[in-house]
Amino acid sequence: MNIMERQTEKNIRKKITNQNTCLTPEQYHILKEKGTEAPFTGKFLHHKKTGTYICADCQTELFSSNTKFDSGTGWPSFSDAQNKEHIELKPDHKYGMNRIEVLCKKCGGHLGHLFNDGPTPTGLRYCINSASLDFKEKKKTS
Ligand code: FE
Repeated sequence: MNIMERQTEKNIRKKITNQNTCLTPEQYHILKEKGTEAPFTGKFLHHKKTGTYICADCQTELFSSNTKFDSGTGWPSFSDAQNKEHIELKPDHKYGMNRIEVLCKKCGGHLGHLFNDGPTPTGLRYCINSASLDFKEKKKTS
């Protein structure tokens, strides 16, 4: 796909999502079509900065960097949600599995899945696609 085609596709996506942000085709596929990025490929897998992970589409605050941990699964993993009011959980029985889907409550975007094999104290692992996220770095106060 050349740059012009990509830009056109982005503009079409923008109209579909009706949000202010502009999703890439991969972000659209994951957030709006419940896709999954290939493991060990996401931009936030080894991201260690201090701040807040937000929805790539509607910018709602979702996860704090304080709860991010290396699960070894190949996807960014969090032991807790920053604000449970911003997260929606739904049973997901696709592919013969019993999983819990994690969605952005505001825009309904697919984020990933929730598992109960995380670290203490929560025991939770929010397994989240990098493509569903953006990051707001916490400014150092001097
Ligand atoms: Fe959202």
